[in-house]
Amino acid sequence: MKTEILNATDDSLEKAAWYLKKGEIVAIPTETVYGLAGNGLSVYSVKKIFEAKGRPADNPLILHIAGVNSLYEYAEDVPELALRLANRFWAGSLTMILKKKSIIPYETSGGLETAAFRMPNNKWTLELIKKCGFPLAAPSANLSGLPSPTCAEHVYRDMNSKIPLIIDGGQCKCGLESTVITFTDNGVKILRPGAVTVEMLREFCNVSVDKAVTDGLDGNYKALSPGMKYKHYSPKAEVFLVECDDDDKFIDFVNKNSDKNTYVLAEKSDGIRANILPYGETADAEASQLFSSLRKADDLVADKIYVKAPSKEGIGLAVYNRLIRAAAFKIIKL
Ligand code: AMP
Ligand code: MG
Repeated sequence: MKTEILNATDDSLEKAAWYLKKGEIVAIPTETVYGLAGNGLSVYSVKKIFEAKGRPADNPLILHIAGVNSLYEYAEDVPELALRLANRFWAGSLTMILKKKSIIPYETSGGLETAAFRMPNNKWTLELIKKCGFPLAAPSANLSGLPSPTCAEHVYRDMNSKIPLIIDGGQCKCGLESTVITFTDNGVKILRPGAVTVEMLREFCNVSVDKAVTDGLDGNYKALSPGMKYKHYSPKAEVFLVECDDDDKFIDFVNKNSDKNTYVLAEKSDGIRANILPYGETADAEASQLFSSLRKADDLVADKIYVKAPSKEGIGLAVYNRLIRAAAFKIIKL
């Protein structure tokens, strides 16, 4: 199959809607990462998504909707808090796990009685959802296990010849997947951190963070979000997360342990005698560049990547969460 990349326009959206209504899958832009979208109510379409990504069938998909009202169409027992959070953070990168209505097939929910919902902050994708009239199930548009795609070119690398169409909406603003929450007796629990941070949610309710967000899963711990079980976001190169609060110490460590195929994620090259991959100066900039730099490392045939562990505050928690998985939990403490 030939994979076409079209800029987001009224015409290309029309074409995407045509494919989606036929049960085909297409890649779409969102503010977090690119999604691989299909009709979330169709077993046929959803199976195609899992197949194209090589995603384990028990890792459920997020349903993308175009407004808060759709929650009542597809979810049961929606708590009042869900409505307040949706009104504050939607359209945006907050995904809520709710009890699903039977119209959502178990293939979409990975066999669970719950389903995940989000309203993405991208005008083209919102328009597309409205044109289709069904929720778009859309995981990140990468091959399972690889870093998520933050531009159309990344999607093309992974999905060429597997899907008919990629809608190019430019660079994703956020660059990390959404925050995933579930509701507890007195608030919410974060299963995956993202741009909607612990601090932002605390203004509304009690917030706890699942242990698996920052720690590896041991054999006894049952993952609340199936996606937590898998090694993830990994380039071919081996990633090492270096925990240290002193820049000079970090530079010294890197200089002593690098060879010609070693790369460092760093905002500037000051004193570093290893190859540099672009990284941000602020936590937001780190988030938006992380996945594209990990992908670039593979293009450059890197064999080792060092990166300094970020602070776990604000969006830093999300960057840390992706990095420890990319590093398969290998942390060097200086
Ligand atoms: P991705 O589609 O790659 O952004 O990943 C979606 C994330 O949401 C994965 O970590 C899923 O396991 C998680 N997720 C989706 N639906 C549910 C659900 N019903 N319960 C718990 N986690 C979910
Ligand atoms: Mg993903």
